[in-house]
Amino acid sequence: MSAWHITIGLEVHCQLLTQAKLFCQCGTDYIGKPPNSLVCPVCLGLPGSLPVMNHYAMQLAIRTASSLHCQLLPKVVFHRKNYFYPDLPKGYQISQYDLPIGVNGYFEFLTQGEKKQVRIKRVHIEEDAGKLIHEGINLPENSSGVDFNRCGIPLVEIVTEPDLHHSEEARDSLIALRDLVRFIEVSDGNMEEGSLRCDANISISSHPDQMGAKVEVKNMNSFRSVFRALEYEIDRQKRCLEEGNCVPQETRHWDEINEVTVSSRGKEDAEDYRYFPDPDLLPYLVQEEVIQQIESSLPELPLERKERFMIDFELTEQDANVLVQDKSLADFFEICIQELNKPKFIANWTITEVLKNLNALDIDIKQSKITPSSFMELLKMIDKKEISGTIAKTILEEMFQAGGRAKEIMAKKGISQINSEKEIEKIVRQVIEQNPQSVADFLGGKEKAFHFLIGQVMKTTRGQANPDLVKSILNKELSAEG
Ligand code: ZN
Ligand code: MN
Repeated sequence: MSAWHITIGLEVHCQLLTQAKLFCQCGTDYIGKPPNSLVCPVCLGLPGSLPVMNHYAMQLAIRTASSLHCQLLPKVVFHRKNYFYPDLPKGYQISQYDLPIGVNGYFEFLTQGEKKQVRIKRVHIEEDAGKLIHEGINLPENSSGVDFNRCGIPLVEIVTEPDLHHSEEARDSLIALRDLVRFIEVSDGNMEEGSLRCDANISISSHPDQMGAKVEVKNMNSFRSVFRALEYEIDRQKRCLEEGNCVPQETRHWDEINEVTVSSRGKEDAEDYRYFPDPDLLPYLVQEEVIQQIESSLPELPLERKERFMIDFELTEQDANVLVQDKSLADFFEICIQELNKPKFIANWTITEVLKNLNALDIDIKQSKITPSSFMELLKMIDKKEISGTIAKTILEEMFQAGGRAKEIMAKKGISQINSEKEIEKIVRQVIEQNPQSVADFLGGKEKAFHFLIGQVMKTTRGQANPDLVKSILNKELSAEG
């Protein structure tokens, strides 16, 4: 069988970080709110209500298009996309059609050590729909509820050209897009909470110049499910074609539990939506000054920053990826480096310990009680061997919990480093006495036993013994044994 040609394009919806909805003053902070508590006549689509455009949402969408190197259109028009669904009270979604915010852009990302480019077909703004609820609230039997809180929340939709050819590539490009929208502060890009949603179009053919039937896969709620769903589809479509059948053009849903895609409906053609300009909204004229102002306020983009971190600070791609995932963390890291020129050392502590503490508290670095200066004070103490890594971890945890500087915490908690050779010798001898088997193992050539003995000394001193001294004293004492 000849090789299969796989073509994947993505359609990504990101919830824009606005306080108000796209065409009314209702709030957008719907998580945890009772159903239908953030609604008004406009977002409920009641007759006689009129939409009023949220300029800030438009600016965020322009910012997105600009960061994706799109050509920005001077005149943007809102269209009605007509379809009936219970979560869409107006019977149409206000979206954009032939005059979107931006067209013909591109973005670059790293995948498996290589830089790839994906062309962006278009970027437009549209309103979100509501949500059907089938369980979990007080509903009469055999009925569903509808929550309109999300209805009218501004989304930016990013449509790529079909430039992706593997599931890994699709996943990595989506992660890079998430990083981008977070970096330029237009969306929190949280896939689990639904503020970033991705549909994928995938087709397979046996001929490189021919596209196979387009299958749209929806309902993927994590980067992992995007990868798994595409792997599944590639496999399914290949088998279909190999058996001599053709793959029908359709929409399929990813079933997270059974890890399969399931056919849901035939794919509508664009015409089925009967797009026409919304008569309630004037075309939006994008002023040149606004574009210039937005362009000049764009930060260094994540990929550029990643590459700079890898070159200037000699970080691995993996480390750079982690640091650049969050702009405030990348900023934090760069301020730290100005205080102590040991990027690799700082990166290690940031990626392991700082992130561990942030995750435990479920906050980001901006919300934390730690500052670059207090963090560097601690790292300088480790660097000068004034404290061990173990003590430093304890202090750091306290800095995250209660704030404060390392030295204050040490004084308050009675933590100090044991630097007395005599004292350490005493403990080392005691550990040697209590662990004859490990001593014998070490003398028999087992290197592991040495680390175990060090661990015992550190445990006895609650991590407070100077680790270099412990090492050299243990070495000395053990060679006396042998
Ligand atoms: Zn409203
Ligand atoms: Mn859409």
